[in-house]
Amino acid sequence: LEIALRHSLERGEMSLAFQPVVDARAEGIVSFEALLRWNSAEHGFVSPAKFIPLAEDTRLIVPIGEWVLRQACAEAMNWPDHTRVAVNVSGEQLLDPNFASVVVSALSSTGLPARRLEIEVTESIFLRDDTASTATLERIIDLGCSVALDDFGTGYSSLGYLRRVQFSTIKVDRSFVQGACAGNRESLAIIRAVVAMAQSLEMSTTAEGVETAEEAALIRDLGCTKIQGYYFGRPMPANEAVALFRRNRAAGAAA
Ligand code: C2E
Ligand code: CA
Ligand code: CA
Repeated sequence: LEIALRHSLERGEMSLAFQPVVDARAEGIVSFEALLRWNSAEHGFVSPAKFIPLAEDTRLIVPIGEWVLRQACAEAMNWPDHTRVAVNVSGEQLLDPNFASVVVSALSSTGLPARRLEIEVTESIFLRDDTASTATLERIIDLGCSVALDDFGTGYSSLGYLRRVQFSTIKVDRSFVQGACAGNRESLAIIRAVVAMAQSLEMSTTAEGVETAEEAALIRDLGCTKIQGYYFGRPMPANEAVALFRRNRAAGAAA
């Protein structure tokens, strides 16, 4: 698998899927998260849960992640001007001394304004050389990009992390959303606490993995500002994401 992964970019086996993130109240699309897809000639479709950890262990995530960033910025240029693109970035990428210049280059070569790029990181970046990682994130924030804290609640969830980087968004992990909707009191209490904390830190909250109308309603009542999940859209190929805007515009014109 590692050998196949090493050749995946040059063989054109990688692509990006885009999943909409909507405003919890108006339900309009505020951004798309870029999610990497690998269709290997030898192994067929390989799940990101399998190949991303392998790419991280082998540091292949550095060139692959650069490709993702450039591709995602280029694609976002086809969307309305207020729509952002979120790109997942691994700890290995942040430790690469070139990372900030790769971001600058991806923005300048595509013409994407920095405010339209959001970087998603998990708190695992704080477990290693966090001074280098936080310095890189600060440079990226200085460029005008935003940074989201992904999968919140699944790791150490140390509140100290929230002081270290000026996150714009906390993404509440799907397990809490599912738990809350199943009537689990602890999950409900945790979502409420995260929402309250984010509000006082002037950060927004995105609930991940919302699959039904009931879940969307509950999440909205709990005060999450943004929603992502199959209910509002599965990860889709780039052309379908563009078609979604066209359809919305046509519906808006007809109304
Ligand atoms: P993530 O960043 O937490 O991305 C969200 C994952 O949840 C995606 O899985 C998405 O397809 C899935 N998802 C979204 N809505 C729903 C829902 O309503 N129900 C359920 N059951 N699942 C939902 P995916 O695409 O398989 O990606 C898995 C993980 O792989 C991502 O988790 C992220 O950590 C990593 N990943 C994906 N693309 C990249 C990338 O370009 N770079 C890096 N470093 N990691 C990536
Ligand atoms: Ca993510
Ligand atoms: Ca997540």
